[in-house]
Amino acid sequence: MASIRKFMALFPNEQSCRDYLFAARWPRGFICTKCGEMRYCLIKTRNVYECANCKTQTSITSNTLMHRTKLPLRYWMVTLYWVASGQRCSARKLARTLQIQQRTADRLLRKVRLAMHKSEGTPMLDFWVREKRSAQQQPIVRRAMLMMYRKARSFIRKYYGKRVSNWNRLYYYYEYRFRNNNSHNQIEALSKLILGACTTIYTLNEYGMLRERKSAS
Ligand SMILES: [Zn+2]
Repeated sequence: MASIRKFMALFPNEQSCRDYLFAARWPRGFICTKCGEMRYCLIKTRNVYECANCKTQTSITSNTLMHRTKLPLRYWMVTLYWVASGQRCSARKLARTLQIQQRTADRLLRKVRLAMHKSEGTPMLDFWVREKRSAQQQPIVRRAMLMMYRKARSFIRKYYGKRVSNWNRLYYYYEYRFRNNNSHNQIEALSKLILGACTTIYTLNEYGMLRERKSAS
């Protein structure tokens, strides 16, 4: 994958990020969350899309991982890219590159790990919950799970050290799984991550419109 600097050159300003995210969020064009209308007008001063029918205003980031973000979209794109590139991305490094506070970088990374989880489907949450139930499992399934657990644990240890809170452990686990499944194709990993970050919970209207259009075509 190209270097971070090259990637940043692909997204030189906020508008380029917005165009990209628009296409990711509404691949078949804008749909109003409330009424399903497709005509809209863009209110440029605040970058919100206003439905031509019911006047509901939606921003490109609402109901996504970036919901109500005050950070420039470029920061998000860079973080997504960095994580997808397979390199270790620490909050400290990210803070230095983007020239932001480490706390902000920390929050960014945490959200991006959530995108990793979203793009990989259901996590094996049971995996982390130590329950006696595992006794009922087939020995072979149990063995496979133990092996994965061990691998995830050594990944977390190597990247994040021994002292990791349970809460963070879960996030790092998402990261482990995502990296594990996508290490072969980093470009694909990036688009998965971006889609994971953009996927909104479709309202009935959005979903209905998608279905209607699918069956019509
Ligand atoms: Zn509407």
